[in-house]
Amino acid sequence: MKTNTKYIFVTGGVISGVGKGIMAASIGAILKAKGLKVSMQKCDPYFNVDAGLLNPREHGECYVTQDGAETDLDLGHYERFLDEEMTGNSIWTSGKLYKKLIDAERNGEFGGKTVQLVPHVTGLVQQTFLDNAKYFGSDVHIVEIGGTVGDLEGSHFIEAIREFPVKVGRENCLFVHVCYVPWLSTSEEFKTKPAQNSLRDLREFGIVPDMVVARMDVDKIVKAPHVAVKLATFCGVREDAVVLMPDAKSVYEVPLNAVKGGVLAPLERFIDHGDPDMTQWEELVKSIEANPEKIVKIGLVAKYIDNTDTYLSVTEALKAAAWKVGVKLQTVWIDAEKATDKDFEEVDGIVVPGGFGVRGVEGKIAAATYCLKNNKPYLGLCLGMQTAVIAAARISGLKKANSEEFDAPKDANVIYIMEGQKGKESTGGTMRLGNYQAKLKKGSKIAELYGTEKVVERHRHRYEVNQKFLAEIEKGGLIVSGTSPDGKLVEFVEAPECDYFVATQAHPEYKSRPYRAHPMFEGLIRAVTEE
Ligand code: GLN
Repeated sequence: MKTNTKYIFVTGGVISGVGKGIMAASIGAILKAKGLKVSMQKCDPYFNVDAGLLNPREHGECYVTQDGAETDLDLGHYERFLDEEMTGNSIWTSGKLYKKLIDAERNGEFGGKTVQLVPHVTGLVQQTFLDNAKYFGSDVHIVEIGGTVGDLEGSHFIEAIREFPVKVGRENCLFVHVCYVPWLSTSEEFKTKPAQNSLRDLREFGIVPDMVVARMDVDKIVKAPHVAVKLATFCGVREDAVVLMPDAKSVYEVPLNAVKGGVLAPLERFIDHGDPDMTQWEELVKSIEANPEKIVKIGLVAKYIDNTDTYLSVTEALKAAAWKVGVKLQTVWIDAEKATDKDFEEVDGIVVPGGFGVRGVEGKIAAATYCLKNNKPYLGLCLGMQTAVIAAARISGLKKANSEEFDAPKDANVIYIMEGQKGKESTGGTMRLGNYQAKLKKGSKIAELYGTEKVVERHRHRYEVNQKFLAEIEKGGLIVSGTSPDGKLVEFVEAPECDYFVATQAHPEYKSRPYRAHPMFEGLIRAVTEE
């Protein structure tokens, strides 16, 4: 274990959704750009053990880590900003924490002692910091505390970080508080009182932050110099440790804005490691702002069109590909329940993302059918591969072809639960989750895209392609172009007769990075651009 690991704790105040996660990840990106090894974790107050069973409409995307944990979408931000693969231990919800504690108590691990919030819960929280720093070999480990300071349900996390400097030394801990400073249009001024109050709440826990990040309206920020003075005077932080952050057009501007806003001074006092090399971020922002003339319209055939965060990694992967290719992306949300051929006709290419449950699935099958028949570029992700297979089987004449997840007769279950998996459908833990290897067919489109025949992608699914129906699937226009190494599971399919029709049982979107587009997404954008 590195004995000199430093810890940064990021709390939030005034309102939720203030951009605390992006700020935490941006600080991470800046430190990484200084050449430091950085890791991150989230502490989330809610009691769900993980995000696997959370309704995506309420909670947004379920992000899957390489080791198969179903987590909060914040971990996706961490990965995209740090280019570091998180693990299941990169998120600790209260539910997961209490479950571990209570299981240990039931196992008699406390030797008859009374189990208490302090020191047992807080000790367990602190242990997660130490374990993560050790696992990643971190120079700096960043911890984001979910919710806002003062929330009753997050107080055990705040108490844990308050106590932590006693264990590792105050000089090894940096407390960052991100708060919102509203603009009052009637009197034409920023109001710091809510921020002051949230800093007072933090002080009540015994924490005086080393850095305060004030989120503010971008158009008015020129009128803000007094904000730093005021927060410094009233809240006991140094004036040069108040970082004014304007709203950004793209989250990827935040690392650069943070540098401009003055984040380096307090960081350098904490860990002196030279100037960050921000070239990667400067280049990315340049390509985001390039404003190319060519517009490509990608239709996303989706179920939760009222909460697009449900597909966050997919939309981020599409954007990354458009930035790389140098075209302007227009994402067209197509309601899977109402989709018709006219919707498909109006876009240049189609993505069918992952999903669970029967709602909207016929619209997704219709999208795949349309693309197969009309040579329209198609990218299928997980359920989007299953709908492509169902479409091909139906085109071949197997009219009742379907998935056992929906309504498949025994003689047309082209997507099914494999023998070994049967009977466990209703429980969690039966899904194929996390990294799995695939071998790609030599000379296939997919092997050409990846530039290799051996790939690893993350998974989150229960059903598989039933290879008993390979003849029908091929007759319908699809070939299997990638399988598990033992050939038992279908991982990739493609339509050789189409210019671009590829689909995978995996979720390649999780591995896309803003500055490194994923080949399957880049391939789609290139295909629609070149048309
Ligand atoms: N519902 C499908 C399955 O479980 C697809 C899952 C997904 O798209 N993530 O196999």
